[in-house]
Amino acid sequence: MSDAVVPSELPPQVPSLPPIPDEAQRLAVLHRYRILDTLPEGVYDDVVDLARALCGTPQAVLTFIDEDRQWFKAAVGLDGEQTDRRIAFCDVAIRSPRAVTVVEDASQHLRFRHYPQVTGPDHLRFYAGAPLVTPGGHALGTICVVDQVPRTLTDAQARQMQALARIVVHLLEARRRELDGQLQLAERELHQRELVRYQRELESKNTELAEEARRDALTGLLNRGGLAQAARASTARAGDAFTVAVLDLDHFKRINDTLGHAAGDEVIRIAAEEIQRGVRGSDVAARYGGEEFLLLMPATPPDAGLAVVERIRAAISGREDLPTKVTLSAGLASGLSGRDTPDTLFQRADQALYLAKRRGRDRAEVADE
Ligand code: GH3
Ligand code: MG
Ligand code: MG
Repeated sequence: MSDAVVPSELPPQVPSLPPIPDEAQRLAVLHRYRILDTLPEGVYDDVVDLARALCGTPQAVLTFIDEDRQWFKAAVGLDGEQTDRRIAFCDVAIRSPRAVTVVEDASQHLRFRHYPQVTGPDHLRFYAGAPLVTPGGHALGTICVVDQVPRTLTDAQARQMQALARIVVHLLEARRRELDGQLQLAERELHQRELVRYQRELESKNTELAEEARRDALTGLLNRGGLAQAARASTARAGDAFTVAVLDLDHFKRINDTLGHAAGDEVIRIAAEEIQRGVRGSDVAARYGGEEFLLLMPATPPDAGLAVVERIRAAISGREDLPTKVTLSAGLASGLSGRDTPDTLFQRADQALYLAKRRGRDRAEVADE
């Protein structure tokens, strides 16, 4: 039976075996056990050793019939790990799944006497194979015993060979369950990792969305909500001077009326650009309403706040890409952290703005303390 010494072709007078009706399914079932081409395992070696002892033969093999070969999971008394399927005794044996196939003297057998293991130096004479039948009824291979002299098999030996075959199938089933369990575990871990990645993506998307929600779409400045949040988050030290400024574009309605709403938008966008550029790192700039902006300037006394506002006013009047001359008026109010709230300062700054408008626009007024 060793592949090293026997040819794989049978002589032409040996008829080919009838096809196994559910062969494709049988092969699929066999492959699902993932036993082919695995390393030797002690428990299967034990089984073949038991078979040999049970039948008193020099050789015993545990084989599986693959598409074109028979593969040995375990063997005692012979070398090699596979043979061509066409010369496999076991390929005949699996065609009778419920019986133990016994060949007492292969040299006298109509078919087997032509097999190279029988005609050649292997001198095979005796063969007995018990099919490995799955719970679904597929014969995957056999546990078989072999001798170089003719023999007989008792009924008891045949039954015990079948018992060994059933034990092997139990081992295969347990092995597959374990492999499936490991696979499921690996899949679950993969799934878990994907879930965590997805969650992180979602969180960063949420942060992005929250950031977007805090900002005004036209100018990118904070909106009212964003401003309130920034004011709450401000960590001004109690007793520090801080300044609030309200900026309002002059006669903006006219710009809309004469140049159109889109031009008006562009003016707001450019004004916002200059406001953002004019503030310092610690300042917060927001679009408070249509053409009104608000600056929150922590740790800033009134004169420093006024300097910021004047810089912005100058920058906007200096922009030459505006569709018309644009000026703005501003009102400022200063107070102390811990004593004054941004709200009260805002009200005073708004009154100062009103004053700036009344005094002719294009100017900034600071509310009295
Ligand atoms: P004042 O100098 O007294 O501030 O005059 P004003 O015309 O600027 O004042 P008013 O508040 O009466 O007009 C502001 C106008 O701004 C009214 C509104 O139609 C317009 N507006 C508000 N939001 C937007 C906007 O997002 N885009 C444009 N194009 N116009 C806006
Ligand atoms: Mg206004
Ligand atoms: Mg205005």
